[in-house]
Amino acid sequence: MAAHVSPELMIVMASGATPDQTEHVVARLEEAGAEARVSRGREATVIGAIGERELLATIPLAGFPGVEQVLPIVKPYKLVSREIAPDPTVIEVRGRLVGDKWFGLIAGPCSVEGREQTLETARVVASAGATMLRGGAFKPRTSPYTFQGLGQEALDILREAREETGLPVVTELMDPRHVEAVVDAADVIQIGARNSQNFMLLAELGRIDRPVLLKRGPSTSVEELLMAAEYVAKEGNERIILCERGIRTFETATRFTLDLGSVAALKTETHLPVIVDPSHAAGRRDLVLPLARAAVAVGADGIIVEVHPRPEDALSDGPQQIRTTEFEDFYREVASIAALMGRHIG
Ligand code: PEP
Ligand code: MN
Repeated sequence: MAAHVSPELMIVMASGATPDQTEHVVARLEEAGAEARVSRGREATVIGAIGERELLATIPLAGFPGVEQVLPIVKPYKLVSREIAPDPTVIEVRGRLVGDKWFGLIAGPCSVEGREQTLETARVVASAGATMLRGGAFKPRTSPYTFQGLGQEALDILREAREETGLPVVTELMDPRHVEAVVDAADVIQIGARNSQNFMLLAELGRIDRPVLLKRGPSTSVEELLMAAEYVAKEGNERIILCERGIRTFETATRFTLDLGSVAALKTETHLPVIVDPSHAAGRRDLVLPLARAAVAVGADGIIVEVHPRPEDALSDGPQQIRTTEFEDFYREVASIAALMGRHIG
């Protein structure tokens, strides 16, 4: 397939279509030099056909046995759109699940500041029921004069925390030169808000074997976020979790404005899981729980929350980190609303 060719057609198989009929369509597409992506949904099997529009037009797909409809994919995002995969994607990370009926609860410090601070936090969140551990090793800081993260030392600490607690590790990658080190330590690679449209970095992540947690930039539209995810998916990595973490508006009462409307909108547009970061949106500890509750209620597939044993001593984002002593209550409230929504903490 030419590098710039996008999926053009969606072939919807009839509900009674046999696997052989699907295979027949796939074989015909491949024979013609096109690529086929099959998505077997609860309702129907959908084949995304990727190839030159003119070439696809020469295959009489609508007449193939078992084919119900042939439709153009009209959205600019293709692989991440719900059109191509109507059922929600569930992402598995070391046995933990995010998406569909599975709710992910990712918790941990903003930054890995040291071994004790990280292990203490990891133990608390693990025993309360968190499903993954977060912690920054490379920090995107507004000021170059503030703490930038412990780098490799932090990655080693995170590895130790995973060994002890069993929690998969989520950590941020900022620089393509750190891919190997971060992939080696992390179970999920976070792309921070500031790199949300760093297209080279996104394409790089499309070629690695780790799920990606892609944060929305503070001035990125829903469509732009989906196109950023498309950069990752296009290179072959379709294990992507999207994250709303607040956008820039005129409002100053919160650090950013948590855009829950966009979470609901994203869920209609994409099959990928969408989680919410109430910590960076709020910027203040007392608003983190209310925003988290609202996120669960709007249909988010998970929460990523910052937790610190002594936020007053934190080297980054102290005012918004909830205390380890508060985490059990936080977990209980989130879990009870998740249960009302028919979700299980994965
Ligand atoms: C973070 O998760 O610590 C972080 C820096 O988040 P964001 O990229 O959303 O600002
Ligand atoms: Mn932070």
